[in-house]
Amino acid sequence: MTKDGRAVTAQSEDFSAWYNEVITRAELADRGPVRGTMVIRPYGYRIWELLQEELDRRIKATGHQNAYFPLLVPASYLDREAEHVEGFAPELAVVTHAGGKELEESVVVRPTSETIIGEMMSRWISSHRDLPMLLNQWANVVRWELRPRTFLRTTEFLWQEGHTAHADAEDAMRETMLALRIYTEVARDVAAMPVVPGEKTPGERFAGAARTFTIESMMRDGKALQAGTSHYMGTNFARAFGIRYAAEDGRLETCHTTSWGMTTRMIGAVIMTHGDDRGLVLPPRLAPYQVVVVPIGRGEEIAAAAARVAERLAAAGVRVHVDDRPQHSPGYKYNEWELRGVPLRLELGPRDLAAASAVLAWRIGGEKENVALADLEEIVPRALDEFQDLLLRRAADFRAAATSAVDDWAGFRAAAADGWAAAFHCGEAACEQQIKAETAATARCVPNDAPEAEGTCVRCGRPSAYGKRVLFGRAY
Ligand SMILES: [Zn+2]
Repeated sequence: MTKDGRAVTAQSEDFSAWYNEVITRAELADRGPVRGTMVIRPYGYRIWELLQEELDRRIKATGHQNAYFPLLVPASYLDREAEHVEGFAPELAVVTHAGGKELEESVVVRPTSETIIGEMMSRWISSHRDLPMLLNQWANVVRWELRPRTFLRTTEFLWQEGHTAHADAEDAMRETMLALRIYTEVARDVAAMPVVPGEKTPGERFAGAARTFTIESMMRDGKALQAGTSHYMGTNFARAFGIRYAAEDGRLETCHTTSWGMTTRMIGAVIMTHGDDRGLVLPPRLAPYQVVVVPIGRGEEIAAAAARVAERLAAAGVRVHVDDRPQHSPGYKYNEWELRGVPLRLELGPRDLAAASAVLAWRIGGEKENVALADLEEIVPRALDEFQDLLLRRAADFRAAATSAVDDWAGFRAAAADGWAAAFHCGEAACEQQIKAETAATARCVPNDAPEAEGTCVRCGRPSAYGKRVLFGRAY
C-alpha cells in the first residue's frame, strides 16, 4: 500500500514507480540475481504464452516453419558483418572459459541469430528451388543491459525471430512487409494496441539492415514503445555468409534476406498501454483469467453454485477462476483482482442465488449489472468482446489526443514533451541528434499510411526528405 492507502502509486505522480509496483504486486515478474535478468512468474508467463499462441498461429499460417538454432555462436561469425558486430559488440556476453580451460575461440551467447542462421542457410540453399526459405525460432537471447527495466530492456529476454531468404529484393521486401502486417494485427487484435506501422529513419536502423520497419505504440505517459521490428537486410548477410543460389539460367546469385522479431517487451507494452491507477488492465485475449468468480458468504450452496458457474463458463471457452479463499473478504478479493487486471468479475451471494442471478462488474468502463445465471454463456463472451474493443478504442483515442502535427520548433517542443509530434524532417542524422539532445525525442518512424505531403524540416528548415511527416516522441 502507498501512504494514502492506494494499492499502487498514481500514474500521474510517478509513472515509473507505478510500472514497477504493478509488476511486483500483480505477480508478473521478479528480479533475477544477475543484474538485468528477470524471473517471469506464472501469471506473467501465461500472458506470454497466450501472445505466443496467437503469433505462432499467424506465422505458421503464412508459410513459415519453426526450427531451433544453438544458443552459442562462434565469436568470429559476428565479425563477418561489420555493421552488425559494431552494433552489438557493447551488449555481447562472451564465453571465454568452458570445460575447465580457456577456449581457443571465444563463443558468444546469441544477441540475435542472423549470423548462425545465415551460416546454416548457406549450407541448405543451393538452387532457386530452395527459395524462399521461411524460418522462425522461439528462443531466448542475451544483450547485456546497462539500464535494465523489467520486460522493456532485460539482459535475457524471450522472443521469436523470423529469418527468411529470397531470390530477389522484391520478394524479400514483400516478406518484410508481411511480417510487419502480422505484428500490426497481433498488436491490434490481441493486445488491443493501436500501433503505427512505419519505417525507421537511417539513424534508427537495425545493425546490418538495409531497411528497418517498426510498429510504434503510445504508452499512457505519452512515450513511444517499439513493439516489433521487421528488417530487410538486402544482401548484407547473404554476402557475409555466402548464401547463394543457382538461378534458372544456371548463374550464381546472392540471396536477399529478412529478419523480424517480437519479444517479451510486449508484456511491458500491454501494462503501460492499458493500466490505470488501480493497477493492471488486461485485454481479454491476453488475460490468464478473463473472469473471476467471487462467492459471497461461506455456505456450501454458494460454493457449489460458484463451481457450477465456472464449469459452464469454461465449457463456453472462457478462462475463469473461482476465488474461494476463506481467509479474505470479498472486498479484498475485488481489489486484488482489479490490481491484477482481470477484465470481468462475477459476484455471487445468497440473494443473487435466490434470484437466479449474479452481479457482473467490469474492470473499467461498465456499471455493475445484474445478469441472469441462465444467460451467462451468452453474456460473458459478449462482454469480453466489448471489453476488448473498449480497450482498443480507449488507447486509440488517447494516442490521437496526444499526437500533434507541428510545423514550428516551439510547437514541436511542446508536443514532444508529453506526446508525439508529427513533423517534417530533413533526414540528416546530425539534425536528428540535435533534436534528441534538445528534447529527448527521437524519430519513431515514417508512418506507412501517413498522407504524402511536402514541407520544411521542423528543426533546420531544409526540405523534407520523406515526402510525409515523421513521428517523433520520447521512447522506451
Ligand atoms: Zn533538419
